[in-house]
Amino acid sequence: RRELYHRLRDLPAETRDGQRISLRINAGLMMDMENLAETGADGVGLYRTEIPFMARPSLPSVESQTHLYRRVLELAGDKPVVFRTLDVGGDKLLPYWQSQPEDNPALGWRSARITLDRPAILRQQLRSLLRASAGRELRVMFPMIATVGEFRLARHILDLELAREAAHGTPAPERLLVGTMLEVPSLVWQLPALVRERLDFVSIGSNDLLQFTFAADRGNPRVAGRYDPLSPPVLSMLRRVVEICDDAQVPLSLCGEMASRPLDAAVLIALGFRTLSVSAPSVGRVKQALRSVDLGVLRPYVLSLLDLPHTSVRDRLNNFGRDIRL
Ligand code: PEP
Ligand code: MG
Repeated sequence: RRELYHRLRDLPAETRDGQRISLRINAGLMMDMENLAETGADGVGLYRTEIPFMARPSLPSVESQTHLYRRVLELAGDKPVVFRTLDVGGDKLLPYWQSQPEDNPALGWRSARITLDRPAILRQQLRSLLRASAGRELRVMFPMIATVGEFRLARHILDLELAREAAHGTPAPERLLVGTMLEVPSLVWQLPALVRERLDFVSIGSNDLLQFTFAADRGNPRVAGRYDPLSPPVLSMLRRVVEICDDAQVPLSLCGEMASRPLDAAVLIALGFRTLSVSAPSVGRVKQALRSVDLGVLRPYVLSLLDLPHTSVRDRLNNFGRDIRL
């Protein structure tokens, strides 16, 4: 198997009928960056910046953040890196951050809710990202955005930082792409308004989006296995998101665990996704699955499942996949 993936490394993630897919990796540790070359992935689709924050005894300074982000960009070379701003709270706690106990941390004061309420932390992080990207491209996205208003506010804070850096004469990124995670169902229902904003891309966080869609804690084994992403409600929702983003010509990707499972990844491509970000160890098997997909065959089949009354269509998809030797 290992050998097979090694052989696949330099082959493109492309379906049998010639649809090229951008296959990226999720990262957060420096160690992960080595996987970029090793896997032959097309970039880092999700750089979880909270991971280095979690590994330190205190809030890192602008200097040390700038140093870190610059190093990440250097290691990525020509390949794109999507930095996600601090996504703490819920299941990700900082040792030096005194948080109040909450009854429902996943639904509580976390992620963008913290950084929009305490913009100094976000501004320092954005300043570091801007400085680290001087003269090159910066892609940045905000997590846990629930409304268009929150996206506007996050973008406004970035504008303030850009203006501040310009006033200081600090060299700016050559190109700036600003996006949002789509992981709260309320934003799915505001997507038609969101795509009219100054928005360069959208990335679905399926881990949180599914947890909130099914009201099932992503980390609780008693309920986590109860619902299936390969189910009519999820596939219909994702299909709709693809349509809205395609119509508005806003690039869309998916960076949750769902994309790391070969069958799920093939189904996402059939729904119209053209960019996926997966865990590094999954690149080989996902690429192999995508290279055996014939979209002309899989797509109509997947679309035929959207209105079924079933809790899961995984068995059907597995059988179909076996028949077409996916
Ligand atoms: C997600 O929610 O799917 C996601 C990619 O982010 P995280 O797992 O870090 O919450
Ligand atoms: Mg998330």
